[in-house]
Amino acid sequence: MNPHGSLTRLLRTLGGFLFIAFSLPTAAFSQASVPWDDLQLLGGRVAPGSRAQMALQTGESFAGSQVLTPVHVIRGRTPGPTVCLVAGIHGDELNGIEVVRQVFETLDPGSVSGSVVGVPVANLQGFRRSSRYLPDRRDLNRFFPGHPAGSSASRIADALFTGVIRHCDAIVDFHTGSFHRTNLPQVRADLANPVVTELALRFGVPLIVHSTGQSGTLRRASVDFGIPAITYEAGEPYRFHAGEIARGLQGVRQLLRALDMIGGDTDSDAPILVRAARWVRVSDGGIYLPSRRLGDDVEQGEILGTVTDPISNERNEIRSPAAGRIIGMALPQVVIPGFAAFHLGDLNAPLPLAEAVDPQASPEDLDPEERPE
Ligand SMILES: [Zn+2]
Repeated sequence: MNPHGSLTRLLRTLGGFLFIAFSLPTAAFSQASVPWDDLQLLGGRVAPGSRAQMALQTGESFAGSQVLTPVHVIRGRTPGPTVCLVAGIHGDELNGIEVVRQVFETLDPGSVSGSVVGVPVANLQGFRRSSRYLPDRRDLNRFFPGHPAGSSASRIADALFTGVIRHCDAIVDFHTGSFHRTNLPQVRADLANPVVTELALRFGVPLIVHSTGQSGTLRRASVDFGIPAITYEAGEPYRFHAGEIARGLQGVRQLLRALDMIGGDTDSDAPILVRAARWVRVSDGGIYLPSRRLGDDVEQGEILGTVTDPISNERNEIRSPAAGRIIGMALPQVVIPGFAAFHLGDLNAPLPLAEAVDPQASPEDLDPEERPE
């Protein structure tokens, strides 16, 4: 027996189900004949029209003390898909944590169709220490889907993937720029995948950046598993940005409306698609001061900022290697040669084709200084 056969069929069914839902939002899930009962998750049950806070056991520290990651669940009153929201995979990226909190604060289970599952702080141990990483310095977003007998990071990834992610019909993962970098609010999605593209469009954020996602990320592992997933990237770590949080909350509500899970009209503004992006790196070390802002459109050869040696006063300009829009950038700081200072989106690159996608050329969800493991 081939265990992957039935799995593949199931995924095709799910993908088709969603694709129909996205394509025909008004007709989707309106069939009263769909059985609708308690949601069973993490060993518990949540009755229709109610909410619950559950706990995901992601690892044990010494003395048998447990690490329990909170999971919020809303089981709608009537049938519909299960949308999952994951934030805090990087424990220092705060905007998404607040988006997920506000979603669950404001949603009324009595007026929801389907289910909404939220993991506001996936990397609880990193969050407690204001750290991107797990206690063993590993990046959790390199280890999905994980393995129950793997490293600590791999086990945490497996607990989340097995306990929650596999039960979702669509996933939104929330991130910000890494370290002292900030991102223009954007959705990252594999635009070579039609179901993922629909999901990205329905989120309603006006900038969508094509990226297959690096191996080991939650987004990539979910899509490879057959569950459409996108990343909402906005702002910088260690801070809460009211505008980026509001936009993220609006994105979630737009998506739920598009899936007929909550009432209200959807905004149909066409987004800007960034089909390719590149990092502009500094050639010299020193005091980096940008002269352009996030969201600026720049021409090839234009000065983006300067790097000044604090001892010799030698100043070097950072020039844009191509025309594009600044979709992410480093904040003023001391840099070393090779530091990724500007993330430049190409608005005129050709549409992605599945066979033409080079993952190495895709923008990263993660810190551009990190090497893939
Ligand atoms: Zn992140």
